[in-house]
Amino acid sequence: MAKRYNPNKCKINRNYSISEIALLYDVHKNTVKTWLRRGLKRIDNQRPYIILGRDLKQFIKDLRGINKRPCELGEIYCMRCRTPRKPEQGTTTFDTETTRYGRIKASCNVCNSAMNRYFRLSDLEVLQRHFAVILPLQQKRIG
Ligand SMILES: [Zn+2]
Repeated sequence: MAKRYNPNKCKINRNYSISEIALLYDVHKNTVKTWLRRGLKRIDNQRPYIILGRDLKQFIKDLRGINKRPCELGEIYCMRCRTPRKPEQGTTTFDTETTRYGRIKASCNVCNSAMNRYFRLSDLEVLQRHFAVILPLQQKRIG
């Protein structure tokens, strides 16, 4: 489960060191270093690194946005792209997993990785309208 960080914890008019950010968000210093690699801006390459409060705040907001971003109708979360993607046309299939749940399988239209999404069978009709669907035989009998 991804942690939820509060962007309002940091002050935009302050500067922060890696240790201060680690303390503020109760994370390990290595987590902050990972954030730097993932796009958190620092003012320059001089150690100790200094991060502007307003950059930190924006980064935390973005981080939450990424974790929170839901799939639109017709999208499936791609693990490789780490974002919701539309399936490549003609790759989407619906399978039944249990009497109540099914699974959509498709390929990402950007990186071509396999994508999966579970859904309630009661939502099947709505979902089918949003995906270009090839029904497997098994599914046709339920319909
Ligand atoms: Zn992808």
